Amino acid sequence: MQRRQLLGAMAAGAAAPLALRLSRLAAQPAPPPLSAFDAVVMPLLERMTLAEKLGQMAQGELNEIKDENDVERLALGSVLSGGNADPAAGNGFGPWSETVERLIRSSLSTRLKIPILYGIDAVHGHSNVEGAVIFPHNIGLGCTRDPTLVEDAGRITALEVRATGIQWSFAPCVAVPRDIRWGRTYEGFGEDPALVAELGAAAIRGLQHGGLGSPEAVLACAKHYVGDGGTTYAPHAMGNRTVLLDQGDTQVDEAPLRRLYLPPYVAAVKAGVGSIMVSYNSWNGVKVSGIHRLLTEILKQELGFEGFLISDYYAIGQIDSDYKSAVKQAVNAGMDMAMEPARYERFIDTLRELVMEGQVAMARIDDAVKRILRVKAAMGLLDPARNHLADRALRDSFGSNEHRAAARRAVRASIVLLKNADGILPLAKTAKHIHVAGKAADDIGMQCGGWTITWQGSAGPVTTGTTIRAGIEGSVSKKTRVTYSDDGKGAQRADVAIVVVGESPYAEGVGDRSDLALSADDVAVVERVAETGTPMIVIVLSGRPLVLGSTLDRAAAVLAAWLPGTEGAGVADVLFGDYAPTGKLSHRWPASMADVPLGTRTTSEALFPYGFGLAYERTA
Ligand code: BGC
Repeated sequence: MQRRQLLGAMAAGAAAPLALRLSRLAAQPAPPPLSAFDAVVMPLLERMTLAEKLGQMAQGELNEIKDENDVERLALGSVLSGGNADPAAGNGFGPWSETVERLIRSSLSTRLKIPILYGIDAVHGHSNVEGAVIFPHNIGLGCTRDPTLVEDAGRITALEVRATGIQWSFAPCVAVPRDIRWGRTYEGFGEDPALVAELGAAAIRGLQHGGLGSPEAVLACAKHYVGDGGTTYAPHAMGNRTVLLDQGDTQVDEAPLRRLYLPPYVAAVKAGVGSIMVSYNSWNGVKVSGIHRLLTEILKQELGFEGFLISDYYAIGQIDSDYKSAVKQAVNAGMDMAMEPARYERFIDTLRELVMEGQVAMARIDDAVKRILRVKAAMGLLDPARNHLADRALRDSFGSNEHRAAARRAVRASIVLLKNADGILPLAKTAKHIHVAGKAADDIGMQCGGWTITWQGSAGPVTTGTTIRAGIEGSVSKKTRVTYSDDGKGAQRADVAIVVVGESPYAEGVGDRSDLALSADDVAVVERVAETGTPMIVIVLSGRPLVLGSTLDRAAAVLAAWLPGTEGAGVADVLFGDYAPTGKLSHRWPASMADVPLGTRTTSEALFPYGFGLAYERTA
C-alpha cells in the first residue's frame, strides 16, 4: 500500500485495527496464471468419465435439488444458494455451516473426491446470512472512489463467507448502469466504465485476497458479462410481471460495447478473477449466453481469461425455446458451467446426447472441465491433504465488531453531501432537541435494500445492525433529547429535524421504475416537518438518484446515503462531523424524469453532475 493511502486511511477517524493495517501493508504478489495448474488438472481429466465431466459442468440449487444424494450420484461440480435458497433449518450461521458442510462431504464421497464449489450472492457482505456485516451496496462504494476501502470490504466479506464453509461469491457486479430506471443500478459502482473497472478489480483483489489458494479467500465472479447495464428501455414481460430494462437488449455496435461495458472485464481478468457470470441480456437481439464472439473470441482468446464461465440462473433456457438447442448454443459459445437450479440433471442428459451426436465436440467438454478444475486446483480443492470444510477459527470474526467498524468506515465515505445551506451541517452533538422522522430512519431492512437476507430484501428488522436513528442517539450528548416519529409529527420546537426518505427494498427487474420521484408518503413527512419551520436535514436512502422535487427546497441540507447496510452509525458520523464528507457522485443526478436517461446525455443536463459532492466548510 502507498504511504499516501495509508495516511489517508488512518486520518479517516478511528484508526484501522492493527491486523487490518498489516494485511494492507503486505504486498499481494501477482496471482499465478490459472493455466499453471494444468499440470495437476490434465492427468485428472484423463481419468474422468464423460458422466464425471458433465457433472462438473452442472450446478444445482440448494432448495431445488430433489435429493441431496444427487450431489454424489451425479458428481455435481457446484451447488448454489440464490437469493431465497436458505437452509431448511433456518438462516443463521449454524444452519448455513451445517448445510454447506453436509453437501461438501457428499461431494467428497464421489469416486474422484472433487469437492463442490458452493456459490452464493455475497454481494455486500455475506448478505444472505443473519448476523453478517452488511456493507453499502456498490453504488455507495462507487462514491467513495477508494479502492483500498473496496478491497477491505471484499476481504472481510470473504472471511465471513468462508466462516460458513462457502468458497464462492457471485460478486462483484461490474455492470455499468447507463439508465437509472434499471432495478440493478445499485449493484454497479457507477456510470463510468473506468471507475467500475478500478473498483471491480479492487473488490476481486479483496475477495481473492492472498490468492485463490488462501483458506481466507473466496472465488470471485465478475458479472454480468456483458452489457447488462446498457439495455434499451422497452417494457417487456418477465414471468407474470412487466419489466422495463432488466434482461433486455443492448443495442450497440461492437465498438461502443467494448468502450462502455468491456473495461471492467479487462481489469477483472488482470486482477486474476477465477470466474465470470454471463449475462441474461441480449446483444442486438441475440442472447449473450449463446454468443461465441463474446464468450470465446473476446473474453477467452483476446483477453486471455483462463478461468470458467457460469451461466446466470436458468439463463441457458432463454437462448432458445428448444432446450437442446439452447444447451448446444451455450456450450459451443463457450459456457463452462450451467446454473440450472432444478434442471441440472436435464442439462447433463441433454449435453450427453449432444456429445454423443457430435453436436458438441468432446474437446469443448474437456476445455470446460479443465477450466473448472484449474480454479478448483488453484483453490487447493484438489489437494486431499487440505481441509475442505469451514475453518472453525474463522467463526469468531463473523459479524465481529472489527468487521462492523470497517463497514462503518465504508458508510461514511460513501455519503454524498448534495446541499448544505448556510453550513447547517455538521450538527452540534449538544443540541437540546433533535427530531428524527421517516420510517426509513429506524429500519435496518430499508438501509440494506435488496439482496439482504432474501433476494428482494424487505423493510423491518431483518438482521442485526444499527439503524440511522440508533446511530444518531449514540452520537449526541447525554443531555440531548432525540425524539422520533415515522410521520414527521413532533418536529415543532426541535432545534433540527432529520428526515430519512427513500426507496423500499427491491432487486433485479422488480426494481425497474419509470418514475423515480420520492413517494407520496415521504413527501408528506417532509411537508409536515417543513410546516413547523424547524430546520430540516433530509437523508435519501436509495439504490439510485431519485427526483427530489420540492424536497430539495424544503430541506436545508440533503445527503445521499444510498443503501448503507447494517452500520447506520456511519451516517451519524457525517451528520455530527466526526467524518467530514468526501463522497462524490458515481452517477449524474437528474432534476426530473425528463432528464433520464442521463447516461446518454451531456453533463450539463444533470441537476448534480458526475463527481459532485460538497465538503464541510467548518468543523462541528
Ligand atoms: C442474478 C445473478 C445471481 C443469480 C444467483 C440471478 O437472478 O441475475 O446476479 O448471481 O441470480 O442468485
